[in-house]
Amino acid sequence: MLDFTLTPEQTELKLKAREFALKHVLPVAAYYDEIDETPLYVLKKAFESGLTNGEIPKEYGGKGYGVTEGVIITEEIAAACPGIATSLFDNSLGMEPLILSENEHAKQKYLPKIANEFKLIAFATSEPMMGSDVSGIRCSATKDGEDYILNGTKYWVTNGGIADYFSIFATVDPKSQHEGICAFLVEKNQEGVIIGKSIPKLGQRCSNTSGIHFNNVRVPKENVLAPPGEGFVLAMKTFSRTRSAIGAFAVGAARSALEYALEYAKKRRAFGTKISNFQAISFKLAEMYQKVETSRLLVWKASWEADNGMDPTVSASIAKFYATEAALEVVNEALQIFGGYGYTKMYPIEKLYRDIRLYRIYEGTSEIQRMIVSGYVLNAYQAVMPALDDLPLHREKDPAEVDLTEDKNSTAWRCQICGHVHYGEEAPEQCPYCFFPKASFKKSS
Ligand SMILES: Cc1cc2nc3c(=O)[nH]c(=O)nc-3n(C[C@H](O)[C@H](O)[C@H](O)COP(=O)(O)OP(=O)(O)OC[C@H]3O[C@@H](n4cnc5c(N)ncnc54)[C@H](O)[C@@H]3O)c2cc1C
Repeated sequence: MLDFTLTPEQTELKLKAREFALKHVLPVAAYYDEIDETPLYVLKKAFESGLTNGEIPKEYGGKGYGVTEGVIITEEIAAACPGIATSLFDNSLGMEPLILSENEHAKQKYLPKIANEFKLIAFATSEPMMGSDVSGIRCSATKDGEDYILNGTKYWVTNGGIADYFSIFATVDPKSQHEGICAFLVEKNQEGVIIGKSIPKLGQRCSNTSGIHFNNVRVPKENVLAPPGEGFVLAMKTFSRTRSAIGAFAVGAARSALEYALEYAKKRRAFGTKISNFQAISFKLAEMYQKVETSRLLVWKASWEADNGMDPTVSASIAKFYATEAALEVVNEALQIFGGYGYTKMYPIEKLYRDIRLYRIYEGTSEIQRMIVSGYVLNAYQAVMPALDDLPLHREKDPAEVDLTEDKNSTAWRCQICGHVHYGEEAPEQCPYCFFPKASFKKSS
């Protein structure tokens, strides 16, 4: 059964997240953007309000929410501040390798703590020299007895400067690419963990991003989330469950850009009338709304697949690259509708513009999502239509009236070069269109 309605619990969650966003996120967003800092107390308040870490399974003290509940909350928070939303929901990304891992000891140790105390957990595959190519990780993990010793640098770590724990992806041998990759849970206070300075950014300045350096950091075997050879798959499985949330960030932020532009267009006057009366403006608003609605549908579909035991990889990629690119188009048009004021810090559009720009980059760039989806359509997509060679193209006789299988002169021969269909007992000596010889014709079924 197809149903787009939220359950009463999901609706309640949406309204709760919306209220939190309007009361605690929106009022502080501009200030923290200006000073380039993460308002940690807002993250704590969101935790205390039960708006974070929802996906921790019930057996580890969590709520056992699905991906769908996560994207519902995410849209609301991102509508108020994409940066704070990124830092708030970074725990979902950081925790996912732990939840997916088979390391029961680590789950028992860390998940209840994250559920019950205010603990931040960050995620790190990226490094100064690589991001898209996860198989190219260089941070090294050297086996020492049953422990591993980490050396190297992870970069672009969201909440890297404020997190308590890290899901770290490293390699036992950079040359062996995917096969060498492993994953570990590392604590901030472990000897040899060095946190870099906060990286200054164009947007999402309310979200801390830092590098982390590991100098002979000893990780006990109890903290191995994926042994060598299983880390790459763990990272990919993580992304397939978290990418729809990036789409949800985009939906929330684009929705706000649309709302601000709508209000402005209905008030601003030019040539003796409201600018919303110009078709050039109202059609922009229509397309902006269309993009927000379409994006949300894709995000919900990917989440629904994840929550119903399907592999959401392709849908999550589609949702991510569609919604994040659509959001950039929406905020770009919103800025246009605001005219010169859109380009100033007096209105919220310029911040949204800077914040939204990031969505096409993190958790797999738009180019990487296109690689995933093109790989699927080229190699795994099951076509419904017959192959071109077998396509019935009867133009000379009506197949409903003549039994073509009985009529020898109705045998169809298709030129495999230009597609011309010849009817007759035999193929022609030469194609009358492209002049290729008889051998280029194939009997069509
Ligand atoms: C603010 C911020 C927060 C982030 N948070 C995190 C985090 O918490 N954890 C984490 O691990 N990472 C994080 N990242 C890193 C992010 O995931 C990477 O920046 C992203 O994956 C791209 O990697 P890169 O920057 O190394 O670009 P590169 O991989 O060097 O790519 C450069 C360009 O080449 C393109 N490209 C690369 N390969 C191909 C290809 N095969 N075909 C076509 N085009 C290609 C890319 O799409 C891009 O346009 C964050 C980044 C930012 C900016």
